Amino acid sequence: MAATTEIGWADSTTNFWIGCTKVSDACRDCYAILIAANLGVGWGDDAPRHRTSEQEWRAPLRWNAMHDRGQTHMIVNRKSVPVPVWVFGNSLSDFFDNQVPPEWREEAWQVIRKTPLLRWLLLTKRTPNVLKMLPTDWDGGRNYRHVTIIASVCNQAEFDRDVPRLVALKAHGVRSIGLSIEPQLGPVSIIGCPEARELDWIIGGGESAHLMTPRKYLLAWPRLLIEQCHTFGIPYFHKQLGSFAFDGERRIRTKHPAGADPDEWPVELRVQEMSRIYDQEPPALHSLHCFSGERGDVGAGGGAADYAVSADGEPRGHRIEASAGGGLNSLVKSRGGGAKQVARQRNGGSEHAVCGIEESIHLHRPNRRGASFA
Ligand code: SF4
Repeated sequence: MAATTEIGWADSTTNFWIGCTKVSDACRDCYAILIAANLGVGWGDDAPRHRTSEQEWRAPLRWNAMHDRGQTHMIVNRKSVPVPVWVFGNSLSDFFDNQVPPEWREEAWQVIRKTPLLRWLLLTKRTPNVLKMLPTDWDGGRNYRHVTIIASVCNQAEFDRDVPRLVALKAHGVRSIGLSIEPQLGPVSIIGCPEARELDWIIGGGESAHLMTPRKYLLAWPRLLIEQCHTFGIPYFHKQLGSFAFDGERRIRTKHPAGADPDEWPVELRVQEMSRIYDQEPPALHSLHCFSGERGDVGAGGGAADYAVSADGEPRGHRIEASAGGGLNSLVKSRGGGAKQVARQRNGGSEHAVCGIEESIHLHRPNRRGASFA
């Protein structure tokens, strides 16, 4: 369990169990294998899955209770951090793994059901299993509207195979669906797939180095995805360049080992949008972490006039867009005096404010690390 995480699109991780079996080329250098080995947990069909501690299972219940009583921060390792909202369920396994005792998964679903103030992100490389592994109290999805099912694919063949399966889940009450194309191992075009318009979110990125030499990631690939997602109106989250990225023939070297620092990216790749499914809905908390060391805070609703300020006095050519849920007024502004435009728009009763400087970053990410409440 991690109350905070380095994974850019989540606030925290919770693992109900650890262990998995490789099922895709993308699994070749799975980061979880190394972590599991350090915990004495094996890998593969023959290795029993390891159920995690009661403390791990209880953590999401505690976070949900904190949201319920309006608590915005908690202490982790003697630091105050925001109470997580976006929770990556099972970052060290696959929630829809056939080898997991079904009663564990059913119990895990019950934890998820009892934590409606969290936004659960369940990734899988086993999309065909999802439907048969929904909980007994699924009830057309009514009890699990805070769950996003994310199919993980690495190339065009997996995309073509899994997107129709993923989209078909919507007819069974899965409210929010996303696609993780990370590590991306080849060009992927979403335009030829009519079902892709139904996706609520796409995450992309290159491969990190763990035990093996990472595979090549061409920046032309995310550029294409960003352009096509824009055409389809699908939010895109660029997670990282990976450890072996190329722009044409030129190798991109970054200080961050996985190329996960947006400040080291070409500006057009600095796109980190969150799932569109919650756009009209206020989360329990709103706070905002901005790039380049900037910080923004958005206070929670109740009709209060809240605002966010980039604390960094030097805007770095970014445009920051904050969107807040129904009934919440939010304002993001840059303190640096370099803003060239300020745009506002109304959306579903919410007031969105955009502080524009030069370039374009779209950021809709409640409750980020490093953010604090005003
Ligand atoms: S499915 Fe996920 S957790 Fe399982 S081996 Fe592949 S990458 Fe690792």
